[in-house]
Amino acid sequence: MFRSSASRSLTSLRAAAARCPRSAATPSARRAASSSSSGSASGSSSAVWIGAAAIGAAGLGYWVLNKDSAAKPTAPEPVKTIAIKGLPANSPFKAKPTVIFVLGGPGAGKGTQCARLVRDYDFVHLSAGDLLRAERQRPGSAVGELINTYIKEGQIVPMEITIKLLETAMLDSGKSRFLIDGFPRKMDQADAFEETVAAADFVLYFSCPEEEMLRRLLKRGESSGRVDDNLESIKKRFATFRDTSYPVIEKYRADGKVHEVSCLQSIDGVYMQVRKVFDDMFAEEAKA
Ligand code: ADP
Ligand code: AMP
Repeated sequence: MFRSSASRSLTSLRAAAARCPRSAATPSARRAASSSSSGSASGSSSAVWIGAAAIGAAGLGYWVLNKDSAAKPTAPEPVKTIAIKGLPANSPFKAKPTVIFVLGGPGAGKGTQCARLVRDYDFVHLSAGDLLRAERQRPGSAVGELINTYIKEGQIVPMEITIKLLETAMLDSGKSRFLIDGFPRKMDQADAFEETVAAADFVLYFSCPEEEMLRRLLKRGESSGRVDDNLESIKKRFATFRDTSYPVIEKYRADGKVHEVSCLQSIDGVYMQVRKVFDDMFAEEAKA
């Protein structure tokens, strides 16, 4: 738009410059021109005056032209961005990564199944809990103490911390397929992640009764060394899952994005169901 109006004004200025020798001649030049019919000597001197006036006027026109174009530099073309589905404009990714949220209550078997998926498919497994525990251990971390308190209490760590850790790990991996385990655990996390990093392709949800999760977590607690694998913390974690995290799964279910797998089988039995979800996804991708 700017360009076309600029070229329009350039065109009209050029036309004005072309008219200049006649219309913009100085009064003395006009006088000289009007007296040019009075004699041949005075005629030749008039011709000199007219020529000088014409040159001066043309010069003035040239100056006006260039002055104008210097005052109005051509605006740079606006950068054209092509919207990529599922990739927010402010995402640090250039192309849409495959993002699968792996959700389920504590002890449902998310980490166990993700390890198998990494073995069999080209995925990077990022556990929000593992990243938070690593940050808690990192010497000099400004948020280590805070993370520890939240984990012990089975509460949701502030989302800015978790999302930053995930985003950094995703970028550092240099890969484009991610299993994001234990995230999002709260609706605001889901929204913030999808608005700043990338949309989830689907949610893999491990449904599991609390009695089974309790049994597994207490068993795991015998050797895990985790500050939250004890009865008191586990009860709080269950409450957080029920009240805060489960609504996230329901929301994605309403969007038709949840693949639910029951945890009530052997590890291999669960994995057979999981494989089917991924094989179907890759078959769909291949068709597209
Ligand atoms: P999450 O990542 O969901 O917290 P984990 O994968 O760490 O859960 O599993 C919790 C515990 O349960 C682990 O000790 C794991 O070995 C065990 N576990 C996982 N899946 C099964 C299963 N299908 N049957 C029995 N035990 C399981
Ligand atoms: P997990 O290793 O998944 O069992 O998570 C252990 C603890 O880490 C949780 O009880 C929370 O305190 C914290 N945590 C894990 N994932 C998240 C998350 N997405 N958002 C906030 N806190 C989290």
